[in-house]
Amino acid sequence: MRVDIVSIFPDYFAPLDLSLIGKARGSGLLDLAVHDLRTWTSDVHRTVDDSPYGGGPGMVMRPEPWAAAFDAVARPESVLVVPSPVGKPFTQAAAHELAALPHLIFACGRYEGIDQRVLEDAADRMPVREVSLGDYVLFGGEVAVIVIMEAITRLLPGVLGNADSLTEESHAAGLLEAPVYTKPAVWRDRAVPEVLRSGDHGRIARWRRTESLVRTATRRPDMFAAYPGEQLDKKDRAA
Ligand code: SAM
Repeated sequence: MRVDIVSIFPDYFAPLDLSLIGKARGSGLLDLAVHDLRTWTSDVHRTVDDSPYGGGPGMVMRPEPWAAAFDAVARPESVLVVPSPVGKPFTQAAAHELAALPHLIFACGRYEGIDQRVLEDAADRMPVREVSLGDYVLFGGEVAVIVIMEAITRLLPGVLGNADSLTEESHAAGLLEAPVYTKPAVWRDRAVPEVLRSGDHGRIARWRRTESLVRTATRRPDMFAAYPGEQLDKKDRAA
C-alpha cells in the first residue's frame, strides 16, 4: 500500500517510524511519504491560510497549496482521506475498507479547516472520504491520521505475526474481547480464572464467548443491540 500524508507539521509523524508501522515500512509492506504543505506555496512567507469569508474567528486553509499538493501526489487509483469532525465516524469496518485500497492521500487540516472547494475540486478526480475520530475537536488532522494509519497498517497482510489476532479481538465480529491474563497465576491475591488454566479448550472458548457477550452488553449496549440475534446460540442466551 502507498500512502502520502500532507501536513504543515510533517514532524508530527515521527512515530510512524517506530514499532510495527516502522517495520512494515522497512519491509516494503507500507510505502509511506510525508509532505510539507508549504512546499506548494508560492509566496515568500509560505502562507497556507487566510481569514474566513463571512467573518468569524480563526483562519481557513487556502485552496491553492492543496490543489498543487494533490497534483503532485495523486495517482489514477488514489483515494483522498480528510480527517474532520464533520466526517463519517471512523470504525474498524472503515479501517478494513481503507486497508484494501492501493493508494491513500491524507490531507491534514489545521485552524478552522480547509476551504470547502478543495474537497469539491478533489472529488472531480478521486473519491474523497471525510472521516471523524469522534465527537470532539482536535487541533489538527495529524493525530487523527496517526490513529487511522495504526488501525489500517495492522490489517495489511503480513504485518502481524499471528493473523488470528485480527479475528479474535474487539470489533472484529461486533463484540468486545474477553479479559486477558498472563503469568503469574496469582498476583496480589488475585488469581487468573481457573478455566483459563484448565487446558480444556472447549471450556475456555465458552468462557471467552460468555465474557465477551457480557462485556459488550454492559459496556456497549449500542453495539450489543446491533449484534445479529441469529448469531446467538442457546448457551449465549443463557449467559
Ligand atoms: N472548525 C472545525 C469545525 O468546527 O468543524 C474544526 C477545525 S479543527 C480545529 C482543525 C482540524 O483538526 C480539522 O480540519 C481536522 O483536520 C482536524 N480534526 C479536528 N477534530 C477532528 C475529529 N474529531 N476527527 C478528525 N479530525 C479532526
